[in-house]
Amino acid sequence: MSNSGSPSSITLIVFGVVQGVGFRPFVYRLAHEFGYKGWVKNIGFGVEIHLESCQKTDFEAFLQALKEKKPPLARIEKITIEHTPARHLKGFSIKKSRAGKSFVFISPDISVCEECFKEMYSPSDRRFLYPFINCTNCGPRYTIVKSLPYDREQTTMAKFKMCPNCRQEYSDPLNRRYHAQPIACPVCGPQVKLLEATTGRELEGGVKTAASFIKKGKIIAVKGLGGFHLVCSPFNFRAVARLRKIKKRKTKPLALMAKNFSIVKKYAYLSLEEKKQLTSGQRPIVLLRKKEDIKGIAPYLNELGFMLPYTPLHYLLLNDLELIVATSSNQKDAPLMKDESEGVGQICDYIFTHDRPIQMRADDSVLKVVNKQPLFLRRARGYVPYPQKVPSSLAISNQIIALGAELKDTISIYKNGYVVTSQFLGDLDEYLNYKYFQETIDHLSRLFEVKPQIVVSDLHPDFQTTRFAQKTGLPHFQVQHHFAHVLAPLLEHNIVPEKKVLGVALDGYGYGDDGQAWGGEFLLADYLSYQRLAHFKYVTLPGGDLASKQPWRMALSYLIDTFGLDYPHLQIFRDIKKEKLKSLELMIANNINSPLTSSCGRLFDAVSFLVGLSPLEVEFEAEAPMRLEAVAEENLNRYYEFSIDSSASPLQISFQPMIKEILEDLKLNVPPSQISAKFHNTLAQVTASLAEFAKKKYETDIVVLTGGVFLNKVLLKKTTNLLEKKNLIVIRPLNYPPNDESISLGQIAHALYKLKINRGPGFLN
Ligand code: ZN
Ligand code: ZN
Ligand code: FE
Repeated sequence: MSNSGSPSSITLIVFGVVQGVGFRPFVYRLAHEFGYKGWVKNIGFGVEIHLESCQKTDFEAFLQALKEKKPPLARIEKITIEHTPARHLKGFSIKKSRAGKSFVFISPDISVCEECFKEMYSPSDRRFLYPFINCTNCGPRYTIVKSLPYDREQTTMAKFKMCPNCRQEYSDPLNRRYHAQPIACPVCGPQVKLLEATTGRELEGGVKTAASFIKKGKIIAVKGLGGFHLVCSPFNFRAVARLRKIKKRKTKPLALMAKNFSIVKKYAYLSLEEKKQLTSGQRPIVLLRKKEDIKGIAPYLNELGFMLPYTPLHYLLLNDLELIVATSSNQKDAPLMKDESEGVGQICDYIFTHDRPIQMRADDSVLKVVNKQPLFLRRARGYVPYPQKVPSSLAISNQIIALGAELKDTISIYKNGYVVTSQFLGDLDEYLNYKYFQETIDHLSRLFEVKPQIVVSDLHPDFQTTRFAQKTGLPHFQVQHHFAHVLAPLLEHNIVPEKKVLGVALDGYGYGDDGQAWGGEFLLADYLSYQRLAHFKYVTLPGGDLASKQPWRMALSYLIDTFGLDYPHLQIFRDIKKEKLKSLELMIANNINSPLTSSCGRLFDAVSFLVGLSPLEVEFEAEAPMRLEAVAEENLNRYYEFSIDSSASPLQISFQPMIKEILEDLKLNVPPSQISAKFHNTLAQVTASLAEFAKKKYETDIVVLTGGVFLNKVLLKKTTNLLEKKNLIVIRPLNYPPNDESISLGQIAHALYKLKINRGPGFLN
């Protein structure tokens, strides 16, 4: 850096999450430490810092400290440096904000920090045991902001008038609560309330009484950051069974919240990386391998989902308890509830609530760790609305909204080089979820001041998202489902490949460009287009949608595909009525109500049923595949035969040889753990073979692993290992789930490319 005479002076612009996270007071203190004069202020898209030194300096040490010591919630994307003339200032000041039109990043909600935690438990502190303690480094953000700029008036804290003590802390640049918008104390801030669910009567004793009810086996709705949890004791089997009945969930795993880390260790194995995730400020639910099972929490699976408390209120509640079930308060096919008026009283015994309104719902995020890196199952609280930078070659000035798929939907908005993806929204075919989808579009558009000029949706003609897109009247792109799956991780990793990549998109269902139900797809792709290199050979989906709920239908479909109608009759079908089997055989043979599918999820269903692990009807998506994964023996390397028909285009991958071998294994009483392992290995081998083929023929050296099936840890590990042994570069999503939650991000990727590089004639002015 060249010096510009004496005294030295520069102006820095810091881009990133630097507003509402204590960044300006941090700069103020740092400048004081260095003895610099100047100012710091918020500008539209970041923070501007002007520095003057009376000695000659290159400010390197300051820059270093700026990056290294920044407040915990701050994320620096970029710093630009300009040499500006010195103004011979007298001191260093925090200047008033200037309203800007660009992208302002706001922080996700973050769990209570160490300093606040200490204060909360120190009897002399004025916030002793106060459940809403927070500071610039912690507390609610995304879920309480109504619009920008991020200041108190624009949050749901506006209705609480600060007391003189809070006001003083809020106004003092050297205080760690300087401009902490949710600042509160027992005198001026939100209060908790314990209500009897049936009568609404308020009860005495607050958190202590709530905890005692949980111990007694009651079900309590507890208001957290992004909505209510339903809470009960995991050790009271009757309470758990009642909770399951209320939620209409017989087997779906329930999340646990543990008082501290050592409780988690009692029930689960964890690695260093898993511990890091569990204790991070984002406080996700982390899926961990069972050490000691708790009956009824995650039946048939080998993992338990744990989180640690993330609000002061949770900590206080867990004071007298070790472990609670904390599952989101949604009824089947509806979003989680955010206030009492939504009927939470009908699904619990007591309501433990408070009067700080939730502006935006957000579920708990869920992840597991694979090869030392996170693999998201659900991205919501703690991570949203952190922005994703797009490769600079794709950045355009138009604003885009992408609406995702339909199941496990998210939306994404694009503005000024960044994408913000919403929290998980659920299945939009359900009315209340659809309302939540609209709520979220409004919220994000307002928050980031986005007026989209282009809308993107899935190719599916009947998805709610496609219909919504058509109704906007905006120019509309449709992107094939699996193509979007492949592009999302490329965008996330900022890769703009020179050659095509091999995208391996394995999932349950996506609408294909031939109108069929795709889901076992090998695409040669770049941002512009894809070519379907290979896919799982089509089999029938007998009964359409029903086939994805009743795995035995898929087992039958694969048997008939392999053996014809003379398929061997297996014991496993004994619970299905003869007439029903017969009618299904006819359906399959005559192609009645039996669309075609290349779905990998459905293949998992079939195999899970054949080995006797799947129920006749599943309760939740991927239940049968998860049970199959749970039993897989990890150190087995054998695999089944498969065939790839290279005379066809696209190449056809057939599992007929595998189905035959599985039946032979079953005859020999080979245990499910081995059959499952061999099945997983087979899929990994299929991918490895195709990757090798694509490398030879098309020089692809990047392989993208994506689609909901890659939430399967066993398959992801095995496939990655095989590919890396062949010196291929394996890309998979790290910050987004590989399932349909990442579709909206992939849709943005394609739209950006189309608009930037391959602008259609007259598409936009
Ligand atoms: Zn704090
Ligand atoms: Zn106060
Ligand atoms: Fe998908």
